[in-house]
Amino acid sequence: MTSLGSDFDESCLFCRIVAGRVPAKVVRESEEFLAFRDINPQAPVHVLVIPKAHGYRDVGELAAKNPELAARLLAEGAEVARQEHLADHADISGYRFVFNTDDAAGQTVYHVHLHVLGGAALGHFGSAEH
Ligand code: AMP
Ligand code: ZN
Repeated sequence: MTSLGSDFDESCLFCRIVAGRVPAKVVRESEEFLAFRDINPQAPVHVLVIPKAHGYRDVGELAAKNPELAARLLAEGAEVARQEHLADHADISGYRFVFNTDDAAGQTVYHVHLHVLGGAALGHFGSAEH
């Protein structure tokens, strides 16, 4: 059973997913984390991994306030990649982690989340012109 308490923000989309009030395609769940498919996938596999607690708006705040949880979030993302066979794919192995952080990166949901992307060649990051 999920403990909501003050870790829950009714106005937050991802809290509402944790609470089961908004449907999601859950791929992995533990007491501390929920992983579910992004509704607008940017790769053949695109999973969001979140701490269930609402406490942290972005990865910077998470790392500053709770580095142990940040480390466990990375490990959970790696486990999702393993479960989705991104790490051992016969043709194209590997994956990308993304944390959009605030306006410049286009963050839209202020409940920290790790994007796990893979399942195809993702291109060389940093090649975009600006
Ligand atoms: P960000 O832009 O980094 O804040 O990421 C938010 C992500 O949440 C985007 O990639 C959206 O496609 C995704 N998203 C928005 N609504 C939902 C939803 N109901 N279920 C799953 N993913 C969602
Ligand atoms: Zn939240």
